[in-house]
Amino acid sequence: RKMRVGLVYGGKSGEHEVSLSTAFAVMNAFDFDKYEMIPFFITQAGEWRVGSLMNTPFADKEQLKLLDAKGGTVQAMDMLFRSLDRSAGTAVEAAIDVMFPLIHGTNGEDGTIQGLFEMANVPYVGAGVLASAVGMDKAFMKLVFADAGLPQVQYVHFIGAEWNRDQEQILRQTEEELGYPCFIKPANLGSSVGISKARNRAELIAAIELALQYDRKVIIEEFVDAREVEVSVLGNDEPQASVTGEIISSNEFYDYKAKYIDGKSGMQIPAELDAELAASIREMAVRAYRAIDGSGLSRVDFFVRRSDSQVFINEVNTMPGFTPYSMYPLMWKETGKPYQQLLDDLIELALNRYAAKQ
Ligand code: ADP
Ligand code: MG
Ligand code: MG
Repeated sequence: RKMRVGLVYGGKSGEHEVSLSTAFAVMNAFDFDKYEMIPFFITQAGEWRVGSLMNTPFADKEQLKLLDAKGGTVQAMDMLFRSLDRSAGTAVEAAIDVMFPLIHGTNGEDGTIQGLFEMANVPYVGAGVLASAVGMDKAFMKLVFADAGLPQVQYVHFIGAEWNRDQEQILRQTEEELGYPCFIKPANLGSSVGISKARNRAELIAAIELALQYDRKVIIEEFVDAREVEVSVLGNDEPQASVTGEIISSNEFYDYKAKYIDGKSGMQIPAELDAELAASIREMAVRAYRAIDGSGLSRVDFFVRRSDSQVFINEVNTMPGFTPYSMYPLMWKETGKPYQQLLDDLIELALNRYAAKQ
């Protein structure tokens, strides 16, 4: 029979809507001669809805949410865990050959859903539990990068309880070590949600309070006036890097609005960089990928300081934006790998990783 792909989207995440757009694009790009799809929609409240087997994509994005409510969380888990049921003496046929999580941010990109798939013994696309968790927590990610010798900006981090106890000390340390302006971020988020730039103490305090509304952990970074250059990495044990790409943000920084709303931010692929610099950034991207123990895919993001072209790694995203118009697939396209091929490769990588562990 055709390969059955469980497409998981939505999610109890600040990036719920972004995930729906990605899911719709992916669904439409799949070759339905080769694949069948089972849609799994996770509502904003975290409930699962499972649809029936599909041989053609949905006609529009809104349909992604209109899955049969009877096929709720219990049925979704039943399908996921079916191949574990050996009560009849032999394994029951798996309902799904491979899961494809298309959820950005918390409860999707952070290792939690990956852990569920591990427990269910079902192959899944993308990074594993550890890489997902490390790639989601900006403070842990920085520790791992430092260990791999990757250059990064100065930073401090703390949790809400420490802030409540030692405000004055945290403010003084930030001002001494980082100065203004600085960037304040919730440690575990993406899509620039909850991120601000502060130019003085009043703004810094407001920014910390804002970030703490999204996460109990906050990270503050030294500001760097830089170009933003990204690399797509694909693979398991032998990861490959794409050409570089540059984000030309429409706003003061690449915030949520610039990313998804005003549509004005541009991309330059490949980035206009001298060949040696581009090669070194691509090498660092693979090093960062190995450092977090990546598999499947990741987009690795860098800052290239305008004054002297010094490179700093910013972050890895283990589930980057994935519509055909997103950076990740576009950088592969420019490297010679079209969108459909990329989907095929990701599924093959998922199956290979699973097989290697059996
Ligand atoms: P997210 O995971 O939400 O994408 P980032 O750490 O990439 O978070 O920050 C979002 C954006 O904020 C970046 O793309 C960049 O435009 C800006 N930014 C983040 N950190 C810095 C920094 N230290 N200096 C300058 N700009 C920054
Ligand atoms: Mg991110
Ligand atoms: Mg980012």
